[in-house]
Order: sequence, then C-alpha cells, then structure tokens
Amino acid sequence: MEQKVSLCWFRRDLRLEDQAAFYYALHAGIPVVPVFVFDTNILHDLEDKADRRLTFIHTVLEEMQQQLCAEGSSLDVFYGTPEAAFAHWTGKYAVAAVYANHDYEPYARSRDAAVEKQLKERNISFHTYKDQVVLEKNEVLKDNGEPYTIFTPYSKKWYDQLTFFHLKPYPCKKYIAHLYQQPPVKIPSLKDMGFVTVAPIFPSKELPAGLIRHYDTTRDFPAVDGTSRLGIHLRFGTISIRALFQHAMELNATFAKELIWREFYQMILWHFPHVVGNSFKREYDKIAWRNNAKEFERWCNGETGYPIVDAGMRELNATGYMHNRVRMITASFLTKHLLIDWRWGEAYFAAKLLDYDLAANNGGWQWAAGSGCDAAPYFRVFNPTLQTQKFDKDLQYIRKWVPEFEGFNYVKPIVAHEEARKRALEVYGHALRKG
Ligand code: FAD
Repeated sequence: MEQKVSLCWFRRDLRLEDQAAFYYALHAGIPVVPVFVFDTNILHDLEDKADRRLTFIHTVLEEMQQQLCAEGSSLDVFYGTPEAAFAHWTGKYAVAAVYANHDYEPYARSRDAAVEKQLKERNISFHTYKDQVVLEKNEVLKDNGEPYTIFTPYSKKWYDQLTFFHLKPYPCKKYIAHLYQQPPVKIPSLKDMGFVTVAPIFPSKELPAGLIRHYDTTRDFPAVDGTSRLGIHLRFGTISIRALFQHAMELNATFAKELIWREFYQMILWHFPHVVGNSFKREYDKIAWRNNAKEFERWCNGETGYPIVDAGMRELNATGYMHNRVRMITASFLTKHLLIDWRWGEAYFAAKLLDYDLAANNGGWQWAAGSGCDAAPYFRVFNPTLQTQKFDKDLQYIRKWVPEFEGFNYVKPIVAHEEARKRALEVYGHALRKG
C-alpha cells in the first residue's frame, strides 16, 4: 500500500524550528512532506520583476532545502495556484492531512477556506495553528467581549493574558525523524517564474541585543542604527515571534511594546477586514482628496523639496527600507500636505517595502491619515522642518540621501507648509463635519 503522508504547508513561517504547524505535523507521527506554493494569484500582481522579496523567499527556501536534504527529506515547491498545487500533491502523495499556520489577511482567509473545502472533498483533514503572533483573534478582548480599537488598553490586557505557555518554543527537532524521506525536489528558479534575482543583501536575523537595550532612546533617529531591522524576518517568519518576544522583554520594554503594536494591527485586520480599501472610521472616506498624479510622482521619487520627506522616499526606493519616524513623516506629508488618498501611499509602500505587511502597513497609513482606529487626530499635521530639528538635527540622514539639498539644484518645495496645513484642516474639517 502507498505510504500515507501529511503535508506541512509553509507560507509566512519559513523556518524549521519553533514553528507550530511543522511541530504538530511531525508530532502526529505520519511522515511529513514540507510544501510551499509560489502563488500565481500573488505573483501576477507584482509589477517589479526584480522584486527583492522574491529573492529573499527563494534564498530562504534554498536554505530550508539544504537542511531538509541533510535529513534525507525535501521541500516540494509548486508554482501555480494553491488549488492546482493541492490537486498536484494529492495526486503525487497519499495525503492524509495538511498542516498550516493561521494567516489573518482577507486573501489568505479565503484561500485557506477554499483549500480546506478542496481537501474535505478528498477526505483530507486541514489543521491550522497560531504561529505568527503571540496572541491572536479573540484572545485579547474587552471585558464586554468586543475587540479593542485603542492600543493602550489593548496592550495592558495583552500582558494580562500572557502566560509562560504562550512563549514556549515548539521543539520541532525532537521529531525531525518523522520527515518523509525522498530525494530533493527541484525548486523552480526565479527565472522560471519570470522574475529576476537581485543581489541578496538582507538584514541579519540576529537580534542586535546591545543596540536594542537602548531602543527607547535611539529608535526615533533615522541616522542612528537604533532599531532591529527584523521586519522582513517577522514578515516571512524566518524568526519566531515567541523567541523574539521573550528576548524583547528581557532587553527593552519599549521594543516589546512595538511588537505588541504588530499584534494589535493583526488583530484589527482580523476583526475589521473592511480596513483593506476603506477607512477604519468610515467618515474619513468622505474626504475630497486632491489626488494630483504629478505631485504623487514627485513624492514617490523623493522630489518634494522637503529634505526629510525626500530622504525617506529615496531610502525606500534604494533599499526597500524606511525608518519608522520617516514613514510617519512621509505618510503624513502625502495625506495632509498633498491631500493624496492614503491608499495611494499604502500601495506604493506595499510595492517597495521589504518588510511589507498588510496589517502593519494599513495600520500605519490609516494612523497617519487620521482615519485609523487609534490614529493621530486629523488636525495634527507634522511639520517637516520641526521633525527634522528634533530627529535629524545634524542633518546626517538628509545629507546621506539628499546630498544636493543645500545647493541651487535642489527642487523648490512642492507646497508651502503653512498653506498646506490650513488647506488640510479645511478639507478634513469639511468632510468630517458633514459626517
Ligand atoms: P523595530 O523598531 O526594530 O521594531 C521591531 C518590529 O516590531 C518591527 O520589525 C515590526 O514587526 C514591529 N513594529 C514596530 N513598529 C510597529 C508599528 N508601528 N506597527 C506594527 N508593527 C510594528 N511595519 C511593518 O512591519 N510592515 C509594514 O508594511 C509597515 N508599514 C508602515 C507604514 C507606515 C506609514 C508606518 C508609519 C509604519 C509602518 N510599519 C510597518 C511600522 C514600522 O515602521 C516598521 O515595523 C519598522 O520601521 C520596521 O523597522 P524595524 O524592523 O527596524 O523595527
């Protein structure tokens, strides 16, 4: 009789240690085939054929493949839709069960529901687990059973709910002998899929502990190496949030708090999926955005004539990274100074950020636009000059990215700050009064 196997479907949890679904699959005792889908539903939407994130994923899969080969096993990678992938695998293997981790994004939720249905028709069970966050979905609710929409009380309750159990690692290695044994299955190359490999220069996945000890005092200065740069690793699950949070609590409370912001936005996305494409506070969808395409292009290219804004956009374009303080400044500038719809900026960041994450990006943009759940009040318009004086007073960050800013060649400001501020207050005020 053909040997029964289970599949462990890797998605945004690309590691072989302390990984919930992988652990439960191995622990169940049926030989486990690790699988991954290069999902054409997602890939076909990527305009940039040299997308850095694909090189990252591909590099990580190759590393996982090496580790699995050392165990006599192999990752089985499919290029196509998830539906086609499971049709293929259920023909190739005698699949008894499929294991995966929860994903809270609307597309992922509908994808998983469709796969579950497809598997059910073949009598294959689908088991899913929490892995991406420490506390998920309904684990942190108000006393009346409703989801929180304000961060501070949420984070208090979050800590109240946290127990040792939530941070306990899943010891996958202990059961690694339960991997299905087979020769290596070839991973499709990026070229096969119509993409280009870029120089694989990515932030390290080691937590810079020395630096994180001072996180609360350094994190706001874009010229200082003061944050972890772990975003991409949290995004794709190349590190475990449980292990990281454990470390974070020991090192710096402010850093730990930022990790809870990440959980907060995932929770918001789960409970309020309308935030994808719509303002969390519905009345903000009445704002009469100017949406000037030329101005948007200047913002994208880092040519607004506001050095701190331009530095941020140029850092993003060149590296796929932008410092958090500057994300706030550039996002505020786009939505308030230029009155361009936050969804335009959100989409631009989504295309460029290495650490792009729907929940955090949407949360960040709606925060800046004022439309979010726990957002800056709409009348708070960041003054780029004051922000520079506070957070880049020696102009180190600006000089790095906008070297011409003190010369005659630098572009004139796209708009005068005071006029733009007044205009924003008027337009926002008008829309919100009507609401
Ligand atoms: P650190 O400061 O070292 O923080 C550690 C980790 O905590 C981050 O990697 C991230 O996972 C999490 N985190 C920190 N701050 C936040 C936050 N405010 N909200 C949610 N999670 C947070 N973060 C993303 O991970 N993906 C995005 O697409 C994203 N888009 C953003 C867009 C805007 C407009 C704004 C204002 C913020 C956005 N952020 C996003 C949040 C934050 O800017 C980044 O997480 C941070 O700059 C990443 O750098 P780091 O890894 O060095 O973070």
